[in-house]
Amino acid sequence: MQLLDGKKIAQEIKEEIAAEVLKIKGRGRKAPHLAAILVGDDGASQTYVNSKVKSCEEVGFKSTLIKLKKDITQNELITQINLLNNDDSVDGFIVQLPLPKHINEERILLSIAPEKDVDGFHPVNVGRMTLNMPGYIPATPKGILEIIKRYKIETEGKHCVIIGRSNIVGLPMSILMARKGYPGNSTVTLCHSKTRNLSEETLKADIIIAALGQKEFLKANMVKKGAVVIDVGITRIEDKTRKSGYRLLGDVDFEEVSKKCSYITPVPGGIGIMTVVSLLQNTLSAAKEEYYEKTLRFSVDEDFLP
Ligand code: NAD
Repeated sequence: MQLLDGKKIAQEIKEEIAAEVLKIKGRGRKAPHLAAILVGDDGASQTYVNSKVKSCEEVGFKSTLIKLKKDITQNELITQINLLNNDDSVDGFIVQLPLPKHINEERILLSIAPEKDVDGFHPVNVGRMTLNMPGYIPATPKGILEIIKRYKIETEGKHCVIIGRSNIVGLPMSILMARKGYPGNSTVTLCHSKTRNLSEETLKADIIIAALGQKEFLKANMVKKGAVVIDVGITRIEDKTRKSGYRLLGDVDFEEVSKKCSYITPVPGGIGIMTVVSLLQNTLSAAKEEYYEKTLRFSVDEDFLP
């Protein structure tokens, strides 16, 4: 079994991004700028946003964290989003999910300008991804593709089983693995809570991507010998021996499954950390305007033209 070391790959990518930022600044351009909106004081969301901001600093990006009270109205949040949509100094921004119940997430996603939607959740970006057109790919699926690429894992003609069909992980992952190209060209089965006989599906899989949010759900008897196992799940478990007071568990029973598979991602140190660098990659693409043609709001800079 070989570990798919997200920590190592993430570090490599951060160094590549940092080198590119130096080049950009060397040409007299401003550093890429990511903004994040955090509504409320949910502990996990704060941790995620803080790690995104810290990663920005590590690669030389500018970052702005906008903290809003949990009782902010939907209209006030949209006003804030519009400010970022129209702020030329901001290349891309995210609204950390989940949002408080009184705010309609769909409405919020739709109010983000697609060219600044570095989370890749806007329908325009989801459509581009589906049609294999250039655009922002959601950070977690992008991180999974990147780790598959860097470890040169074969995907063509392979049977890939994905567990979980959320809009941010499972569903986009199923589209990406089925798309033409590499990584892709797989035969995909998308499983979810209504799937019958899940083990029958997973036992046929050459590649399993577990994203259901149930700790240590995938057991060795559900996995074919030699399969590639990607564990997306993150569940916090109370652990008083740790300074943080908790530890993280994935959706895969690592102890059992690692003895049977060919490759596996650990939790932590696997897909979680890859997700953060994918967001940085998307922000760099936004700064370079790789996916969206310049609008009148942007001035033309020859350095960034293809
Ligand atoms: P979600 O709760 O939105 O969706 C879970 C999906 O799993 C649903 O489609 C549901 O149908 C399916 N499911 C639930 N129980 C099932 C079962 N017993 N059998 C088959 N399918 C089942 O989850 P999400 O937002 O996609 O997150 C999934 C997990 O991934 C969570 O643990 C989350 O914390 C983690 N996550 C990690 C990252 C990362 O950066 N590594 C990013 C996003 C989510």
